[in-house]
Amino acid sequence: MSVYIFIDHTQGHVKKSSLEALSYGAALATQLGTTAEGILLGTIASDPAALGKYGIKKIHHAAQENLNALDAQVYARIIADTVAPSGEGVLVFSNNVTGKAVAPRVAVRLKAGLVSGAIALPDTASGFVVKKTVFSGKAFANIGIDTPFKVIALNPNAYTVKEGEGIAEVVPLTAAAPAPKVKVVSSKTASGEVPLTEAELVVSGGRGLKGPENWGMIEELAHLLGAATACSRPVADAHWRPHNEHVGQTGIAIAPNLYIAIGISGAIQHLAGVNRSKVIVVINKDPEAPFFKAADYGIVGDAFEVVPKMIEAVKRLKNPSS
Ligand SMILES: Cc1cc2nc3c(=O)[nH]c(=O)nc-3n(C[C@H](O)[C@H](O)[C@H](O)COP(=O)(O)OP(=O)(O)OC[C@H]3O[C@@H](n4cnc5c(N)ncnc54)[C@H](O)[C@@H]3O)c2cc1C
Repeated sequence: MSVYIFIDHTQGHVKKSSLEALSYGAALATQLGTTAEGILLGTIASDPAALGKYGIKKIHHAAQENLNALDAQVYARIIADTVAPSGEGVLVFSNNVTGKAVAPRVAVRLKAGLVSGAIALPDTASGFVVKKTVFSGKAFANIGIDTPFKVIALNPNAYTVKEGEGIAEVVPLTAAAPAPKVKVVSSKTASGEVPLTEAELVVSGGRGLKGPENWGMIEELAHLLGAATACSRPVADAHWRPHNEHVGQTGIAIAPNLYIAIGISGAIQHLAGVNRSKVIVVINKDPEAPFFKAADYGIVGDAFEVVPKMIEAVKRLKNPSS
């Protein structure tokens, strides 16, 4: 049975989380002694065949521009129709916004078992068991799938991108896309130097920053580090920052390599969205702030003193002669 990986892209570029899914799918195909095949809907700026360097042998490509914008129902139908004739297989998605919308629909169409939030390659020694996080990352569960089709949604930043050599064979998908049931009347792209969901580094601010006028230092630190900016929910609710920066249980869940939390208490609902970060740095003037329990590094201090010093230190590091 083949391993099929959905290739998610935005503004002509394949998302990093999707490159992780490609690498994961390729490794799983090797483990199962089969081949990895990508499914690409819409158009990307580069040659799709070059994605072969992530270990996939074939790409099923529907190169219609009207597929560039996500329509979960249309995507699910095309993906399911593409793989259904094979009768069995593993489908890998990134567990990002697109994957969360599409993977369950594909699973329903294929009558497949689905594990979302996978964090490791399946154990295939006897059966097919996928490890995932549960309870907002506080525990793990190992879920067995025994349906002919198996759907896995891989958590972003849970698997390292592996780049090698290779060119994939591109097979055009010519079947007409089903008519969309949803009509998009307008869309607004979030502004920002680095998209939050794709960011390796994130600088985040909370109510401890007192007001929107104090976000200049957050933005400056983020800019110097090449990081995205984020915030706690009350900050977005108070319109100090846009809602697309709100992380947590009711906001975006992220898993950057570095999360710097400034003036954020560390409530469980906030942690639910950031506790998969590889390294967490907390800056808070209250030594009892709950966030310190989840931190890899903590600075007890006033953000208005600490952050300007960090900015100066980063500037010195980047330009030692100044
Ligand atoms: C159903 C539900 C869902 C929720 N979902 C989310 C969610 O998705 N995301 C989210 O963030 N919250 C969420 N919340 C809210 C959450 O419970 C907390 O209220 C919120 O995270 C607190 O935000 P905060 O840490 O910015 O503010 P506060 O709790 O007010 O904490 C501010 C922190 O800043 C520190 N501080 C103050 N001044 C300074 C200074 N000068 N320098 C350094 N530190 C300073 C304080 O010591 C304090 O720890 C949810 C709540 C509910 C009930």
